[in-house]
Amino acid sequence: MGLNVIMMGAPGAGKGTQAGRFARERGLPKISTGDMLREAIKEGNPVALEAKALMDRGELVDDGTIIAIVRDRLTKPDTRPGFVLDGFPRTVDQAVALDAFMQERARGPLVVIDVVVPEQELVRRLGSRRICGTCGANAEPGKTVCSTCNGELVVRSDDDGQVVVERLKVYERATRPVLEYYRARPTFRVVDGAQAPERVANDVDSMIDDAAASGGRGKLGGERRSSGRAADQAGA
Ligand code: AMP
Repeated sequence: MGLNVIMMGAPGAGKGTQAGRFARERGLPKISTGDMLREAIKEGNPVALEAKALMDRGELVDDGTIIAIVRDRLTKPDTRPGFVLDGFPRTVDQAVALDAFMQERARGPLVVIDVVVPEQELVRRLGSRRICGTCGANAEPGKTVCSTCNGELVVRSDDDGQVVVERLKVYERATRPVLEYYRARPTFRVVDGAQAPERVANDVDSMIDDAAASGGRGKLGGERRSSGRAADQAGA
């Protein structure tokens, strides 16, 4: 059975970083819908260019387009041992479509990790986030050029002031219900993303392994949280 992981979290929670690290360490493909869209925009793909206006405003691209992109990606053979999804699903309709796909293909349970960070911290992080203008990787803290390709670091076009506010609103409205959709599953876990990065990484790893081990057992399970502060506060 594959290790199928969904990394959830608000913009700025660090889900992309954790998804990338975990995927690398376990030899699984990281599937980031945001990265795929940005890549397709660079290549001049007409559907992606249409989506760009929505992305620049902090709004969501329509479910039909995103679901088709993800279904197509998940049929590639490299996803058979599992995958790490980052930025998908962002709506309940996307989550329902993913469940249908997983069932159709008998791909096994989904492990869902919610990386929780208080809102003031999200805004602070998004204000200082930089990405590589060449390869699009998230910049590592303290670095002045990209650690992957030495490219120049730039502000992401949707990390600017008002757009950040809009993205956080969209997250509350469209994506928070996805957490409720998954919360009762035995494979749902909450991680405190406000801790030091190495502690977040440790918690993510142990929560994923623990959830995967309990994946086949029972229909309902209590939500489990890492012990840290933000997760305790995040009744939300
Ligand atoms: P991200 O890099 O995940 O923050 O995504 C950047 C932008 O791409 C989002 O603000 C949306 O406009 C779009 N996007 C990425 N993933 C999705 C998704 N699953 N559903 C709808 N829009 C998405």
